[in-house]
Amino acid sequence: MSTSLSIGEFEISTVQDHQGTDRDPAEIYPAVPVSAWGPYRDFALDPDGFYRSQWRGHLIRSSSGGDGLSVLVDAGMGPGPHDHTGKPGELLDSLSALGVSPAEIGVVVITHTHGDHIGWSVSYNDGVARATFPNARYLVARSDWEHYSRPENSNEAFDQSIKPLEALGVLELVEGVHEIGPGVSTLPTNGHTPGHQCVLIESNGETGVVTGDLFHNVAQISEPDWCPIFDWDTTISTRSRRELLDRAEREEWTVFSGHLGIGKSIGKVVRSGEKASWLAL
Ligand SMILES: [Zn+2]
Repeated sequence: MSTSLSIGEFEISTVQDHQGTDRDPAEIYPAVPVSAWGPYRDFALDPDGFYRSQWRGHLIRSSSGGDGLSVLVDAGMGPGPHDHTGKPGELLDSLSALGVSPAEIGVVVITHTHGDHIGWSVSYNDGVARATFPNARYLVARSDWEHYSRPENSNEAFDQSIKPLEALGVLELVEGVHEIGPGVSTLPTNGHTPGHQCVLIESNGETGVVTGDLFHNVAQISEPDWCPIFDWDTTISTRSRRELLDRAEREEWTVFSGHLGIGKSIGKVVRSGEKASWLAL
């Protein structure tokens, strides 16, 4: 199931890949006492006290159609089948349901190079890599590329799904605010990884932002100091999270989250009293 919203002349759609594994908040947020989850338990955790991240990408399309831009932000966990469900990823099926073939994607932007955001970027036939989106440029933050290319930081997901893009001639390393096309740009929000970046969509006075892993759980909207164990540098990730969420609240941006639940993953940051909270759209 996809959810679509328009931002000015753009249409942004969720592209579901798969449901993630069971997450124990005590394990993922070890610095947060279990009791601190109390006010958020009803909506941030499932009734069993765990939470499940969704793996997804987002499709950004110019509603003017024709030769307009088609951008895929993040490429899910990949084909699978995945151990925790025994089922394959669905990202290409979800794209197809939106009427888009892999060949129609002009740009793939990777918010960061963790495995659950890059899984479909490269496909393998008999061990030979090819770009799953054959006509796309793949935009990867230079800081992520350099960090995960170092032998001490190498991991299988990066080596399988990002490394081959260089030899395939489709990799474009980006730094800072990089214009992807008119009205669409990257916005550095480092900390989760060295090069983590959001994607900003600005059109006709409206602004949307695709946030990757700026936050993992909806409770972090109210508690931006809470950091999951996946954050590379928690000081930097906290600062990036605070700055972006403050701006999203102040300027009334529509936020397209990477991992929140189906049907409540798009929202606004609103304030009631001291703390901000998530208003799902
Ligand atoms: Zn993630």
